[in-house]
Order: sequence, then C-alpha cells, then structure tokens
Amino acid sequence: MSKFQVHVLASGSKGNAIYIQSGGTGLLIDAGISARRIASGLAEIGVKPADLSGILITHEHRDHVAGLPVFCRKYGVPVYAKEATWYGLACRREIEPVCCRILPETVRLGELTVDPFSIPHDAADPVGFVLTNNGAKCTVATDVGFVTETVRAALADADVVILESNHDVNMLKNGPYPRMLQQRILSNRGHLSNADAAWTLAKLPPKPSMDVFLAHLSHENNTPNLAFNTVRDVLDTAGRLPSVRLFVTSQERRVTNCSEGELTDEDQTDFTASDDLVGGYFDRSNAGTRLQPGF
Ligand SMILES: [Zn+2]
Ligand SMILES: [Zn+2]
Repeated sequence: MSKFQVHVLASGSKGNAIYIQSGGTGLLIDAGISARRIASGLAEIGVKPADLSGILITHEHRDHVAGLPVFCRKYGVPVYAKEATWYGLACRREIEPVCCRILPETVRLGELTVDPFSIPHDAADPVGFVLTNNGAKCTVATDVGFVTETVRAALADADVVILESNHDVNMLKNGPYPRMLQQRILSNRGHLSNADAAWTLAKLPPKPSMDVFLAHLSHENNTPNLAFNTVRDVLDTAGRLPSVRLFVTSQERRVTNCSEGELTDEDQTDFTASDDLVGGYFDRSNAGTRLQPGF
C-alpha cells in the first residue's frame, strides 16, 4: 500500500477538498465544499475532523475555501495559508482567529513535512504542496496555468501525484464559455489541459510505481473519459503506463487509492470507457483497456 492514503473528497470548479493520511497524521488540502460534506466524507473513512493536524489552503478562490468558516467554527482545526492568501480571502473575518496560521516555507505537521511551492494561477500567492514522510513523497498541484520548472521539480519522484487535468483544449474552444473566459483558462495563469497533464506525467523521471489522480476536471470542457484516455494514451506511448495507477477524481464522489474492503457485485461489473468512469482507475493487470470502478 502507498505510504500516502489519499481520499479526494471532491475535485472540480464547484469545490475541492482532499484528505491525505500518512502514518498517524492526516490533513486536509483545501475546504471548498461544505463543512457538512467534508465531515461526512471523513466519517466514511473513520476520521474525525478534530483528528486533522491542519488544513492547507492552496489559494483564496471560492472553490477551495467555501467550507472553511463553518468548518473552523465547528472543529477549531488550524488553517495554514500564505499571508497574501489570507489578505485575499473574502471570508477571512469569518474564520476564528485562533485557527489562522501563516504558511511558512516549510512546516512539520505530525509525521509529515509540508513544503509549499509556487504555482502560476490568477490568485494572490497560489501554491501546491509537497508532503514527505520518511522518503515517501506526495505532490498536489491543481489550478496550474502551466508547468513551470518549480512545478516539475515538485512532481519529480513523487509516489503519489494529484495533478490538474482541467480541460480538453478543443472542447474548451468549441464550448459555451465566452471568449474572454476561454482565454483566461488557456492563459499561463489559468488551468492545465489534459494534454499538458499527460505530457508532464510522461516526462517525469521513471519510478517503479506511482499513483496519479487527475484533478479539477471542468464540468463543461472535459469529461472523465477524455481526461483518462488522453493521459493513458500518452503514458502508453511513452512506455510509462505499467508503472502508473491512474485515478480520475470527481466533483460528486470520493476517490481514493486506499483499498476499503470487498467490492460489491455491482462495483465489479466490467466497463470500458463511459461516463461511469468517474472515480475509476486503470488496472495495471489488464493491459490498458479495462477500467474498474473506484472503491
Ligand atoms: Zn480551483
Ligand atoms: Zn483557482
């Protein structure tokens, strides 16, 4: 089992929250869904909000912080964000002062070392996170306009990667978004396309195994199948597929790399590419065509 158990409670432009556990330490990255939904997502895996060592905030956009005031009021968990992020946070006065911490260059939370790194995005001081524990590494990089050398270095050698795969460029260009919004998404401070995510992953230094979560999929300009297939095909061409377990995150459903007991009969139904893919993962033992549902 991976040294990092990841549960993406929700991911996408309507709200983001990721629970990551390693050893005895668990923390949340972003709180962009309701406090109630975060608490119930944690309860499904036997985690109490009060057990969290902290909440790390990537940036101040609403889809990353919407649940923060209520969650802090109810559970008093410390929240770490860059100083400029705190200033940019519309809801900062609603957050209990005792919970507010300025995110330092590096911080130790329980067994985890947390190293934030800069990402290009249209926010005050947006960051991704590298989490390490005894040589194991987990990297979170969403809302990434483009992959800088800093982002590439943060992703290199990670055992678990949570990487944005926001849109298909053709869907975006031919979709319903007004031209200005299209330009914003495609810009260097916007969001990462499926193809960019795929090639970024394919060019990382080889590792014997890696869990990859494709995250922050656009509802309008992407589909889970398209994200999955684009990344799978590029990894396949690069000969990297056998070492990768590929997960597609969901706005509605928790997706995890952590086995949670027996699958139900319904879960075991084979299915190939379809919209049911949300939450699915690529099974290494099945040579590239079969998908299995998430746990
Ligand atoms: Zn976002
Ligand atoms: Zn954002």
